Amino acid sequence: MSHELDIKVENKYVVEVRLDQSVFTIDVDEHGRPQFTESVLEKVPPYIREEMKTILFEMKFGPKQVHKCVYIDADHQEWCPETKGLGNCNCTPANVSYRSKKPTQQLGISIGEEYVELKYGESVFKLGLKRNGYADFPESVTKELPPEIPFIVAGRIPNMRKNGINQTQIELEIVHDFWCDELAGVGVCRCDPVLRNPDEPKLTQWWEAGWGVLTCVVCHKSYNGDISSYHVRYDWAPLFKRHRITDNHNKVYWEFWRKTLICEDCLRNIMSETHIRFPHVIDDVETSPRVRRRRPIRDRGKLRLVK
Ligand SMILES: [Zn+2]
Ligand SMILES: [Zn+2]
Ligand SMILES: [Zn+2]
Repeated sequence: MSHELDIKVENKYVVEVRLDQSVFTIDVDEHGRPQFTESVLEKVPPYIREEMKTILFEMKFGPKQVHKCVYIDADHQEWCPETKGLGNCNCTPANVSYRSKKPTQQLGISIGEEYVELKYGESVFKLGLKRNGYADFPESVTKELPPEIPFIVAGRIPNMRKNGINQTQIELEIVHDFWCDELAGVGVCRCDPVLRNPDEPKLTQWWEAGWGVLTCVVCHKSYNGDISSYHVRYDWAPLFKRHRITDNHNKVYWEFWRKTLICEDCLRNIMSETHIRFPHVIDDVETSPRVRRRRPIRDRGKLRLVK
């Protein structure tokens, strides 16, 4: 029999864990190791505690994950109470493994006069409407749903209203982590798949204007002024962020991570050092006067070598 294990990271030091029907709050130390209390030690068999440790470690040090719902499978000894369905495991099972729970893909939305009804899998939720016409998701409902659902619903409702549709059924897409074994066709899913609305464009981009100071983490040069920021996302995951100081300097900074902002000059140096080049950067380099001046000299050198 598989056990369903649901882990939600509340914050750096606390996780909420549900094992089948039992819910526990577990403290985690700064190294990501769970501190099991008496009641956990009593109710959760050792092989599941070991899997919990592994999963928590992967969640902490792998790609950022805050929620994971998995099934744990194991081969128990014949005499183990769990095999007979009589109680908790007291053997040392073999082949302990976990697989992610496949998210439900069916989402039904019905709009009424003063409410919105959602049907997600077997669950039905009746939600009130906010003054702006969006569905109001109370915490009790958001806890039951994948985090993407409220956004998908918010995106759909205006469209349904515009087209005079009261009811719709959506087959949501599942997006796996790129390293997922299921995606590669070599095993089961152990990642944290997300759901997306198939009607939404995959590539999204927008501009944002602001004022501020940008500092390159490599050369520490700072510029301030009006900033025009260009955001590019794919499947809602950030792909590129480019900030351009528009007044007088026209300096460009690329954002890779909250703590990594690099000016375009330093980025070019990093690219030539790592031999990583994106097509338009190559174009840029080829047409820059510095490179054009340099190329004939190199060519002449090669020619001499042939002679
Ligand atoms: Zn057992
Ligand atoms: Zn997966
Ligand atoms: Zn720089």
